[in-house]
Amino acid sequence: MEEKHSQSFIEEIQKQVSAEQEALTIRLAEHAAEEAGETDEKLIDEVDIAVTTQTRALAAQMRNRDLIYGEKLRGAMQRIANGTYGICRFCEELIPEARLRARPTADAHVDCKQEEENAEKRANGNQRPSTSGRMTYGDEE
Ligand SMILES: [Zn+2]
Repeated sequence: MEEKHSQSFIEEIQKQVSAEQEALTIRLAEHAAEEAGETDEKLIDEVDIAVTTQTRALAAQMRNRDLIYGEKLRGAMQRIANGTYGICRFCEELIPEARLRARPTADAHVDCKQEEENAEKRANGNQRPSTSGRMTYGDEE
């Protein structure tokens, strides 16, 4: 395989991923601080309780996403370290730089990934089409 991403491109991505990791660490710390700062004394009536419960659920959801994203960033860093970054995990061809710039955590071509998702759908049988927020968080999640 003669094709390879240039060293300068990999370095650029490495910087991008590590900046993302830092931002994520700060975000997670802020979440934790917010949660710690909440006291139950603030829950005066039922409306407050309902709103707070909803807010907490939403916050937990966002934190979950952040944690998953953190895993993806770590994975990207690992691939950079072992020299497999930017190679599609399905077809083992290079992933275009434009896609990696837009989504540094990508480890596959859009088409290859789509293939896999289609296969999963077939394996799951004929379930009714789900619109449960799948498209709202990009094609990686
Ligand atoms: Zn591929």
